Amino acid sequence: PDGAGGLRISGLHVGYGPVRALRGVSLQAPPGSVVAVLGANGAGKSTLLRAISGTLRFHRGTISAGEIEYAGRRLSGLSPAAVVARGVTQVPEGRRIFTRMTVAENLRAGALGVRGRKAAAAARRRVLELFPVLAERAGQRAGLLSGGEQQMLAIGRALMARPSLLLLDEPTLGLAPLMAARIADTIREINAQGTTVLLVEQNAALALSLASHAYVLEVGEVTMSGPAAKLAASDEVRRRYLGET
Ligand code: ATP
Repeated sequence: PDGAGGLRISGLHVGYGPVRALRGVSLQAPPGSVVAVLGANGAGKSTLLRAISGTLRFHRGTISAGEIEYAGRRLSGLSPAAVVARGVTQVPEGRRIFTRMTVAENLRAGALGVRGRKAAAAARRRVLELFPVLAERAGQRAGLLSGGEQQMLAIGRALMARPSLLLLDEPTLGLAPLMAARIADTIREINAQGTTVLLVEQNAALALSLASHAYVLEVGEVTMSGPAAKLAASDEVRRRYLGET
């Protein structure tokens, strides 16, 4: 099947010049799973996603050691477009939609690398079923959407490339609880349709409710990992990430 073998990261070291952002990170996301990465500001979560998606170079970061493999093939060193072609798409932090373009144009931009009109049309149908509001707003400038709708558009645009692995960077950041819950429901739905999800979140409660497995990242290292339910029950996680005393 698509993405067989899933995502395997081993001993990954990433630096920005002298800043060592990741120090020997190993992580796996089997096909069909939702895996969460938790951690405070600056722990290295975005860096991890940038390393996978090939966008690290735009931030002057470099991989100095380790391997990133997806579906049995090496991803490290590939360009962002080549990574997308392997079925891996990132929804960047802060949404990064094209605010002056319409909703429909944003979605079309997400399908640029997709071969075949039928495939693009099928992807578009799937996105508009997941997010009916994007169909209603198709002709509107994306910058006029609410924060939650912009996040839907960012996810929808990523899905236009028909990924088998979706990388989500803080999808609920800055959203009201009700909208965050809606985004969470959509992530569940996307996963139920067969897409593997790697979810980076500061909202640990939400991430642990979605994920089967989770990793805790602290200053560039994995300090805890395991089944999400087990982490959610651990005193350390409850105290440090779930705001309990
Ligand atoms: P946040 O939620 O704030 O994005 P994060 O867990 O995603 O935090 P990263 O953004 O990956 O963390 O940052 C990890 C470390 O790398 C931090 O020390 C950060 O200051 C540093 N860093 C990130 N981007 C750069 C860059 N372009 N140049 C230099 N240092 C960077």
